[in-house]
Order: sequence, then C-alpha cells, then structure tokens
Amino acid sequence: MQPYANFIAGKWVAPEAGDYYATHNPAHPEEALGEYPSSGKPDAEAAVAAASSAMAAWGSAPGPQRGAILFRFAQLLEDSRSELGKIVTLEQGKALGEALGEVSRAVVEARYMAGEASRPGGQTYPSERAGFSCQTVAEPLGVVATISPWNFPVVTPVRKIAPAIAFGNTVVFKPASLTPWSAVYLMQLLEKAGLPAGVVNLVIGPGSSVGDCLVADRRVRGISFTGSSDIGGRVAEMAARRFASVQLELGGKNPAVVLDYDDLDGAAREIVSAAFLCSGQRCTALSRVIVGEAQADALVERILCQVAKIRVGDGLVEGTTMGPLISKAQFQIVDSYVRKGIEEGCAVLAGGRPLTGNPGRDGYYYAPTVFDRVAPDSPLAREEIFGPVLPVIRVRDAEEALTVANGTRYGLAAAVFTSRPELMHKFATGIEAGMIHINHGTASQAHVPFGGRKDSGQGAFSIGPTARDFFTNVKAVYAKW
Ligand code: NAP
Repeated sequence: MQPYANFIAGKWVAPEAGDYYATHNPAHPEEALGEYPSSGKPDAEAAVAAASSAMAAWGSAPGPQRGAILFRFAQLLEDSRSELGKIVTLEQGKALGEALGEVSRAVVEARYMAGEASRPGGQTYPSERAGFSCQTVAEPLGVVATISPWNFPVVTPVRKIAPAIAFGNTVVFKPASLTPWSAVYLMQLLEKAGLPAGVVNLVIGPGSSVGDCLVADRRVRGISFTGSSDIGGRVAEMAARRFASVQLELGGKNPAVVLDYDDLDGAAREIVSAAFLCSGQRCTALSRVIVGEAQADALVERILCQVAKIRVGDGLVEGTTMGPLISKAQFQIVDSYVRKGIEEGCAVLAGGRPLTGNPGRDGYYYAPTVFDRVAPDSPLAREEIFGPVLPVIRVRDAEEALTVANGTRYGLAAAVFTSRPELMHKFATGIEAGMIHINHGTASQAHVPFGGRKDSGQGAFSIGPTARDFFTNVKAVYAKW
C-alpha cells in the first residue's frame, strides 16, 4: 500500500522521521484503509514556515481573486460528491446518505465564503474633526492553525479553511488522526483549484505532537479548534499565554425540552433523527429529552416507534440508516456509560447493548439506546456520551425543565417543543446555549452563525458573517486630508 503524505509548500512530502500509522474501516475493523504520516514537531514547523512565507502575497491578493479560487474549489467539491461521500463512509462509518449530505453542506459553506472574499469588511465613521476621515479595515490574522475532529471530516475543515483563505490568511491544517483520507482529498481539490503553494498546508499526526506544536508556535496567530471541551480548554490556555486568537467549537449535552406540545409524533421524529444521526456522534446531537410528566408516556412510546425504524449496519449498504461508532475506544466509552445507566437502575427501553459479533456485524456497532426515568444528576444526563444513547428525564413543570436544561457544563444547542408561545419565549431566552431550535431538531443552516457558550465554545461563531470576526484583525485608520 502506497503511504499518503503531508502537503507542505505545495508538495506532497513524507514525514521527516519516516513514521506511519494505518487507518481502518469502522464497519470492518480488519480492513486497513491507508497508511498515513505520524508527523512530529519538524513537520509541523516546516508547515508553519511554508504558511508564513506564503502570507505576504496571499494576504495582499485582491479578495475577489481569492474568492475565485474558492468558487473553483466549491465546484470541484460538488463534482466529487459521490467519491468523497464514499470515502467519508469508509473512514468515519456514517451512512452514505449522511456522508453525501455532509459534502453538499460543505459545498454551500465554501460558496458562501467565496462570496465573502468580495464583500465589504470595514466601516466608515463620521469624524469629530473637519478634514479628517475615520475608518476600520479588516486585515488577515496571519498564519492560522485549523484542528478538526473525526465526526465531520469534510464539513468541519471546510468551515475553517474556506473563511481563513477568503479573508487572506494562510493555513496549517491538522485533521483528526482517525479521518485523514478526507483531509488528503480536500488538499487535492484545493491544489486543483489553483491555490498557490503554501497557502494551505496539511500535517497529519497525533494531536499531542502536531496539534501541541501548532498551538505553541508563536508564528501561528490564530487557532480554530473543533473537538472536546477538555482539549479545547488546554488549547485556550496555551494560546492565551502568547495572546493568539482562538475559536473553539466544543462538546455539547443538548436538551430536547417537550412541554404541552400538540404534535408529539412530529417531536418524536425530530428528536430521534437529531439524536441518532452519525450514531449520536454529533456535537449538536440531541442527547437528553426533558419532558413534562403529563406527556412523558405518550412521547416515550412515540420515540420508541421511531427508534425501531433505525437500520444499523455498514453505511455503504443500501437501507442502512445508522453506521458503526468510529473506533473501539469510542465503542468502549459508549458501552461503559450504558453499563453505568443499567447499574443505576435507569429503565432501558431500547438497545442497551453492543450489536457487534452478530453475523455481518463485525464493526463497532451499538444498538440505538433509550433510557427512561433518568435522574438529572446521573452521568447519563450530564456528560457528553457521543454515541447512540438517549436518556429521558421526566420533570414536573417548565421551571424544573429549565433548571435541568441548564444544569450541565455545556451550552451548545437545544430544541424546545411546545405549542405555548410563552414557553417558546421562556426557553428561547432562558436556555444557556448558542443555538435554540423551536419545534424542530438541532439542524443548523449553512449561512447562519454557529457556536456555543459555557464549556461548549469560545470566540466568534463560525459559519456565515461572524466568521470574519475571527479570521480578521480590525485596524482603525485615521487620515487628515
Ligand atoms: P478531540 O479528542 O478533542 O480531538 C479534536 C482534535 O484535536 C483532533 O484533531 C485531535 O488530534 C486534536 N488534538 C488532540 N490533542 C491535542 C492537543 N494536545 N493539542 C492540539 N490538538 C489536539 O475530539 P474528537 O474526539 O476528535 O471529537 C469529538 C469531540 O468534538 C466531541 O466533544 C464533540 O462534541 C466535539 N465537536 C464539537 C463541534 C462543534 O462545532 N462544537 C463539532 C464537532 C465535534 P488526534 O485526532 O490526533 O487525537
């Protein structure tokens, strides 16, 4: 098998130490997918040097020219949808329909950012003094490190790289170690789109070496990181010591609150879809249901009907609606939470066990699991499991629902299902989260700011117009005419 390489200064280069690791298909763990560089400090430093050298020319290139390259990239991405979608399913495990949807979403986000390169970025202010003008301009930050997780190996990198280059920054991209194939493919498309050498560089390797080096390197002026809250906190701490900007998109424990709602069938459909897509490995997955006692039995019955329709299997097989978990480690984490829930005495109404080992199922498959009557202080109700596990918490009233909804360290997304306008308002304003969805699941749109608060995020929201706030520096310019 020919090993893949890093992409530095426009060339595909082997890691300096010559170390490689293999990736595997989570649907068939014995199937190796490729050999990838296990890069280290020298590789990360070479990539930062390349990005630094490319900065002067790229940062001063006219915005519309940068946008034109991004439009070409978006078109190439769209044309490659089938091939790249299949790669995502092979290395990440999600069902092919979801993988294709991810690529399509990345195309829309890339096109939006291509347009941003031509849109105005500063403002003109009236001057206090006659004969003077005052304006602000938006300048690129400089070299930006983009560090991404494995659950969305196409859209997350594109969400970082496209705005970075639209606004004139250069990039060192470190993908998750479990999903480097999609990253290599994205680099090939950027190269084909005509991006100058050094503007985007790819370094594949462990977070503890490559990621750490990028975060510590004083030449890197911004870090856009998506991943767990614990690693995100560490990134923020290191970056703060040298005053680098950070954009952190982190974990979530996203509630679906259901109170006095007329369409429980609709709520159950939306909740189950948002909970089990990507096998629950989505930062915005609905990962707990908080329901008023009066509607709890009826809602749970409907949730179970929807869960029974999920077809678990190899994501490339037609009819599969939920693939395996990404890795053995993730599988073990999910299983340990399920065991804890069972030991605590929570009622398991669906799943509650691995599916692996059954005929045709040698991958990291886990049964979609629903727990009822979970206490709000249970680990199942408070911690991010990142798997197909949905705890139901029953509450007396809206006050208790709000307290429970806000009772975790996270504040990413939330859904509220209610027919009462005053409750819509109460939860839209009262829930401590970056994104609230009323009467539908946690599905975001490709041009609307996306982010979290509390331990779920820090810095400017990504997607849409707020991306500019992270990827540019403001400069005030006063002139006497
Ligand atoms: P993770 O373990 O935090 O890793 C994320 C990225 O950080 C990976 O590329 C990882 O590299 C790298 N990394 C690890 N240690 C590092 C270090 N010391 N310095 C710099 N980088 C380091 O997260 P994950 O398991 O890949 O992803 C799941 C998490 O991401 C969940 O918590 C999920 O909620 C969150 N997430 C959030 C959003 C959002 O938008 N809010 C979106 C998607 C996912 P390696 O792969 O080499 O370890």
